[in-house]
Amino acid sequence: MQSFRQALRELCELGFQLLAPRCCCICQQALKAATGIERFVCRTCWDNLPVAPSPETLYNELLNFFTPDDLALSGVAALFSLREGTPAMRLIYAVKYYGLWDLGVELGRVVGSALSHLLPDVDGIVPVPIHPARRRERGYNQAEAIASGLAQVCHRPLYSRALRRRVATPSQTRLNAVERRRNVVGVFTAGDQALCVRSKTILLVDDVLTTGSTLNSCAEALLELGARRVFAVAIAKAM
Ligand SMILES: [Zn+2]
Repeated sequence: MQSFRQALRELCELGFQLLAPRCCCICQQALKAATGIERFVCRTCWDNLPVAPSPETLYNELLNFFTPDDLALSGVAALFSLREGTPAMRLIYAVKYYGLWDLGVELGRVVGSALSHLLPDVDGIVPVPIHPARRRERGYNQAEAIASGLAQVCHRPLYSRALRRRVATPSQTRLNAVERRRNVVGVFTAGDQALCVRSKTILLVDDVLTTGSTLNSCAEALLELGARRVFAVAIAKAM
């Protein structure tokens, strides 16, 4: 059944490419590359994406929002530094709202190759879960697409169902730092792969890091489930 679905998806993809050639998701220029990230973003746009601050700087920023006792994350890294509403942010919107699962996987591969040396030995990878109602609406969890690409290049197991989102929280986009923290308290709980994280160092994956409230809330849940330490990566740090 899975292979039939896969074949159908590839056939649709091929038909789509013949009818409408791929365009850069940032500048809309037509693309020719058949593999890698250049199937989705042109070289110029890709090279112009601003690099995120270092993991040390990002961690110090988290300490502006959390006391050391409240901070469940042991470290955090991001690839790019993006501002809401800018053309570069279309890279994230393409994965999140326009259903480009393959772009998410490709970004996960890039993140895995670029940042894995900055992160200590990781035993397993966990995407930030979305609520089942939102998953039905979107068709998939964008963090899981990124996490699956990352798991492929890092050769680590992917525990997509380690955590479960109990509450469909409203979007965090318009909330301030205090509201963001309040918005995600107690939202994440054990999923049916919860036992997999016990005594493990876990790498949490999300598309965007803003204040770190969502990632920290997930990290708290993972520590409660017995994880040893939790690090996090995101494609973009939202400025
Ligand atoms: Zn472009």
